[in-house]
Amino acid sequence: MKKDLGLYIHIPFCARKCDYCDFLSAPADEATKREYVKALISEIKSYGQLGAEYLVKTIFIGGGTPSFLEGRFIADILSAVREVFTLCEGKEGVPEITIEINPGTVTGDKLLSYKKAGINRLSIGLQSADNRQLRLLGRIHTFETFRDNYKTARELGFQNINIDLISALPGQTLDSWLRTLEKTVAIEPEHISAYSLIIEEGTPFFERYSEEDLDEELDRTIYGRTKEYLESAGYYRYEISNYAQKGFVCKHNCVYWTGREYLGLGLGAASLLNHTRFHNEEDLQAYLKLSKNHTDNFYPYIRKDIKKLTKNQRMEEFMFLGLRMSGGIKKSEFSRQFGQSVQEVYGNVIKRSRLEGLINEKRGKIYLTDKGIDLSNMVMARFLLE
Ligand code: SF4
Repeated sequence: MKKDLGLYIHIPFCARKCDYCDFLSAPADEATKREYVKALISEIKSYGQLGAEYLVKTIFIGGGTPSFLEGRFIADILSAVREVFTLCEGKEGVPEITIEINPGTVTGDKLLSYKKAGINRLSIGLQSADNRQLRLLGRIHTFETFRDNYKTARELGFQNINIDLISALPGQTLDSWLRTLEKTVAIEPEHISAYSLIIEEGTPFFERYSEEDLDEELDRTIYGRTKEYLESAGYYRYEISNYAQKGFVCKHNCVYWTGREYLGLGLGAASLLNHTRFHNEEDLQAYLKLSKNHTDNFYPYIRKDIKKLTKNQRMEEFMFLGLRMSGGIKKSEFSRQFGQSVQEVYGNVIKRSRLEGLINEKRGKIYLTDKGIDLSNMVMARFLLE
């Protein structure tokens, strides 16, 4: 019997680097993009027989900006995936295949080529509906460009679209955030991800702003109002920062949050297989060179930081990740996976957190309360065992 698998495919290129971004991505010329796609395809093909052991239920092409590549490259990558891996079908359902796109890098032709290649979900990086804030972030698009791309995607028949937003930007007010939400909801995407800005070391934002420029109180207010606003518009929060209309939860993200197996392909991509975490080579030149030296047997040469998780680490992850979801963790699933009850391992933490109103238990599940979500970092830390 084949094991379920989620595939993540990393495209590490962007038209320009945004001022707050510390993802593994950079601008690149056409020759580099071509060379990378060739290497990525040889990585995929190097899985050969091993790929046949899995049933792929979700694919997420992320970045970087995958839509910065020509559409035919994405089609080539997906056809290599289909050659090596079995994608679910029939009773197993249709695989969810998502591509991240950024306004300003897509055309109708590209979107059409994605559709033809079997992509059925788009994740669009809008970030803000305010053009001044987009400029502040160093984004290359305007709200108007986004709206045109979105309209084209709908005309071409994409029926599952996520919009990414970022809140708590320097100088942002609650009103300006609510206007972004209002404009987003008005176009009725099926899914909205709303993350708060984190200022990462090594980015231009880190040089430009300090902690004092971020208003934590406002961030918390925004968080609460976002939930209220989106729930009244028909979106429910199924994870700390993710909202969906009924039936449109992102299946690929749920693979991560429920501790299921996933394989990362491409530069720096992370994997969890057989209770082992690792990631691929992060240096582009090294990745390209290794692909030339080991064309047929590429993947073992790029795996790094391979760590078999201990039982305690697996239990911790089960709790951290599961508690991110509004449905929480299933006590029976904990016992099934670890041969011990959650009460036995975390009885004291659960009792204390319940008394403080941070978590709740209902119908065999443990989940964070609204107060627990507000203080999620502190609550999660309580579940550390080592
Ligand atoms: S488009 Fe996304 S990945 Fe690329 S630089 Fe901007 S934030 Fe980073």
